[in-house]
Amino acid sequence: MPNGALPDTRSLAERARIALERCGTTGLPEAVGAPGRARTPITGQDLFPLEFATPVEAENAVAAAHAAFTSTWRDTPAPERGRLVHRLGELLREHKADLAELVTIEAGKIRSEALGEVQEMIDICDFAVGLSRQLYGRTMPSERPGHRLMETWHPLGVVGVITAFNFPVAVWSWNTCVALVCGDTVVWKPSETTSLTALGCHGLLMRAAADVGAPADVHRVVLGGADIGRTLVDDPRVALVSATGSTAMGRAVAPRVAARMGRYLLELGGNNAAVVTPSADVDLVVRGSVFAAAGTAGQRCTTLRRLIVHEDVVEEVTERIVNAYEQLGGRVGDPFEEDTLVGPLVSERGYEAMRAALERARADGGRVLVGGERRLEKDAAEAFYVEPAVVRMPGQAEVVREETFAPILYVMTYRTLEEAVELHNGVPQGLSSAIFTQDQAEAERFLSSAGSDCGIVNVNIGTSGAEIGGAFGGEKDTGGGRESGSDSWKAYMRRATNTVNYGGELPLAQGVRFL
Ligand code: NAD
Repeated sequence: MPNGALPDTRSLAERARIALERCGTTGLPEAVGAPGRARTPITGQDLFPLEFATPVEAENAVAAAHAAFTSTWRDTPAPERGRLVHRLGELLREHKADLAELVTIEAGKIRSEALGEVQEMIDICDFAVGLSRQLYGRTMPSERPGHRLMETWHPLGVVGVITAFNFPVAVWSWNTCVALVCGDTVVWKPSETTSLTALGCHGLLMRAAADVGAPADVHRVVLGGADIGRTLVDDPRVALVSATGSTAMGRAVAPRVAARMGRYLLELGGNNAAVVTPSADVDLVVRGSVFAAAGTAGQRCTTLRRLIVHEDVVEEVTERIVNAYEQLGGRVGDPFEEDTLVGPLVSERGYEAMRAALERARADGGRVLVGGERRLEKDAAEAFYVEPAVVRMPGQAEVVREETFAPILYVMTYRTLEEAVELHNGVPQGLSSAIFTQDQAEAERFLSSAGSDCGIVNVNIGTSGAEIGGAFGGEKDTGGGRESGSDSWKAYMRRATNTVNYGGELPLAQGVRFL
């Protein structure tokens, strides 16, 4: 059990400084009154002041990244570009613990999840290095004699990467490692709540660039809030805006980028569900659901928020999950402690959203079966620790259809698989989904075009914890983007279709005659 004592803010600030220095980031401002700040959700207090960028500085960063793109990077052979990402991967292996330290201090993730997030960065480095020799275009048979028809993939330009607080380093690496091997340069606007992790990543990448002789301006980081994000969104030199965050953010970003005919890739909110059928292995359901629903204190885009359980097994499944949550309740606390499973919410906003959602759920006939209470309030009045909650709902009320970024698991029942799929798909978001069943036909129906409408559809595992090898992203209000593995790299490049005439005649396509 966690011993309950939280570390003091000063020692956390010192640990953050040391981890940053080890990553190669120096020169943190000492000045009191700088416009930005670094904060830790572990105590809820400020660590130290930080220099945030001005819009002009953000524009200058775009100009520098654009110059690096046109002068060097786009013409550097892709396998050569892969050397930069390979070196980054080596440095990440060396500094895995340092970066994980920053993730825990700034995002409140428990140690093993923070280490797992850095491992994900290492994995995407490996993937991107392989990709640097596999940016394949196709060759198609031409309908014209003496002609060759093919496609070539070219770098796009500057990629503006805007990220959320809850995966402060992995999402950056999905975008940046792939963009860099594709020949793009990157300007990163991290969440205003996780600036230190961004400085740590940037420090490591700059070391890698120096080691392999790549231009430093292949990557710039601009700290700040939505106003700095908007600078990237509106700049025509930013060829692709890859933005991760809430659906509200995506709704603000998409039309602005579209208005200037730019490209965007959106990774937005989820409201993920698992269907539990009568044949499900209940042990798997419990383990899969508890990690997916309460891991990262319910602050993953893929967090399990809805459990749709067949009425024949709902009592057993609910009882087992409630038992597991009762044990979890004793393991809420300092994310650095080995026994802790649930760290703090990142902000008061998350806590208020959870409280309000539980109240609305009760008003809609929901019963809170376990959890929902605030913890450690006396130890740290400005920090927000909560017991993950399970709520039995009579139906899919409006509050269940919304993403509340906190650990609430709503349990509902169904009678037929059609009804379950309807409930499942009856929300605006479409990120991740799962079915627990031993019945192959049921699993296939859920995986089919008439089944789950999400971008991620799993069988007998929870909704969270995706691997980097697959394309990651979702439909509907989740934004439609795909990042990370598979052929997601295509979003970071432009395709040219080439027809080469080597025949000496000039036959026109479709048999057209002219002159
Ligand atoms: P948020 O929307 O508050 O902020 C995300 C980022 O967008 C931040 O960097 C913020 O400064 C920036 N931003 C906000 N408004 C902007 C604007 N108008 N123009 C430009 N930039 C703007 O999200 P958050 O609270 O940091 O993160 C939680 C949300 O992110 C949840 O909804 C979660 O589901 C989602 N998320 C989605 C994925 C995914 O891959 N689908 C991954 C992680 C998080």
